[in-house]
Amino acid sequence: MTEDSGCAEQDIQACLQALEKAHAYLREEITGADAEVIREHLSACQNCMNNFDVEAAITQLVKKCCTGPKAPAHLKASIMQTILVDIENQPTQPEPPNIRGTSSTK
Ligand SMILES: [Zn+2]
Repeated sequence: MTEDSGCAEQDIQACLQALEKAHAYLREEITGADAEVIREHLSACQNCMNNFDVEAAITQLVKKCCTGPKAPAHLKASIMQTILVDIENQPTQPEPPNIRGTSSTK
């Protein structure tokens, strides 16, 4: 038997919720006990840490871009590239065939 220390299905649900709230948390829309719950989950869950790391980096970057006079453009570009590669690696749904009626009426 191999010890499966990965996320169980229930954990995945918790992860999704945590990441969803993480957005609001990063915008400082969530504070106090709610923020604690999110932080606790993120710090204890490696799966979330990997995702949250990227989210946090982007949000902090956006903040810097908005408030700071100097925005590290190269850093933003490299992060964006990482995300884009990540997205491209995800399986995309095949687009429905474009059925165009080439006016061939009799
Ligand atoms: Zn998690």
